Amino acid sequence: MVQVSIAGSTGSVGTQALDVIAANRNQFELSAIFANSNIDLLADQANSFRPRVVGLGRKDLVSQLTGKLRYSPLVVAGDEALVAMAEAGDVVLNAVVGFAGLPVTLSTLELGKRLALANKESLVAAGDLVAKVRWSSGGEIVPVDSEHSAIHQALRSSFFSEIEVSKIVLTASGGPFRGKDREFLSKVTLQQALAHPTWSMGPKISIDSSTLMNKGLEVIEAHELFGVDFDKIEVVVHPQSIVHSIVEFTDGSALAQISGPDMRLPIGYALGYPSRLKQPFGALDWRESRLLEFEAPNIENFPALPLAYEAGRRGGGAPTWLSAANEVAVEAFLTERIGWTDIYKVVEASFESYEDIGLDVIDDVLQTDFEARRVTRSAIESL
Ligand code: NDP
Ligand code: MG
Repeated sequence: MVQVSIAGSTGSVGTQALDVIAANRNQFELSAIFANSNIDLLADQANSFRPRVVGLGRKDLVSQLTGKLRYSPLVVAGDEALVAMAEAGDVVLNAVVGFAGLPVTLSTLELGKRLALANKESLVAAGDLVAKVRWSSGGEIVPVDSEHSAIHQALRSSFFSEIEVSKIVLTASGGPFRGKDREFLSKVTLQQALAHPTWSMGPKISIDSSTLMNKGLEVIEAHELFGVDFDKIEVVVHPQSIVHSIVEFTDGSALAQISGPDMRLPIGYALGYPSRLKQPFGALDWRESRLLEFEAPNIENFPALPLAYEAGRRGGGAPTWLSAANEVAVEAFLTERIGWTDIYKVVEASFESYEDIGLDVIDDVLQTDFEARRVTRSAIESL
């Protein structure tokens, strides 16, 4: 029985992970759940799955949460919650959104546990630091992001993955604005940007998908996870979201992972690794006729993608800055303080203020994140 702890259990990935556990009770047991402020849903999840540990980001809500529980788990908040949660599980799913997920990534790896990683922002913001902890503690990362799960699966076919890989091809649906012109893009609404054509996801990643910043962050994520040079990571638009990514090998062979767009498959893969789930999610009916299209991304209309490559290549604190600036800009768009095209404008303006620094310790990461947010907020004010 695999003991699973879930950080961000109340979100889109978190609730789908609970679906996976409910459908595979003979393989998984829920050991801990952790969320920030949605105590009603967290209490419902706790009462139904009865994990030993229930954690909350907001310390001020602990007594309210306890009042809603119908059994007596260990209820913990703040940093204490992170450690208790990581200790309780064989595998910890990090499904927190944004930079707030960094402590989960670090504390899980420090304990030498398996990290099922959905929270790409922590890897983008603190790549070098995460790598240090990962290699010194014996902790392991299995990606949940569908593209990286696809690559992880394709790489299992290779004995000497790093030297045999010639290219990683990340597929992108293209988001809700694929093929739209600048005139259209200048007027898009929040509702349009949130309406993803193939995936149903939380608000932040939905907006990131509409700007292609999500794919940019995923390029950096792929570099960090698999140690592949940026020159060998390519992005291709594939609107059907059936081919989840491709690894091309030195002999010309290309392996892709193919399934319907259902996050429960990569979530279950990461929770159960190295075993596969007995329950299928996203399996295709191969007799159905279908079209699989591929095209180059339009980097003129979606400049966030080349900006992320630039930040990734610069390394050090550049991806940290980019990701923080993007978080602030997306939050401003979600609260309708700025328009859709302003997201890129303020991120680019903010990124211009970044000066190269290395990230040796956690304080460097925190300071870069803090500074990027401050500069981005002032870029928003001067729009
Ligand atoms: P959601 O917005 O749906 O959920 C976010 C979760 O994070 C909630 O449980 C929320 O708790 C929790 N949370 C937010 N802030 C904090 C905090 N400060 N401390 C602790 N918990 C916090 O996000 P998604 O599920 O869409 O995305 C989660 C991550 O997975 C992101 O990094 C995203 O990029 C990645 N991902 C998501 C995919 C998807 O299909 N949704 C696909 C691939 C990757 P509360 O509800 O209490 O606020
Ligand atoms: Mg993805």
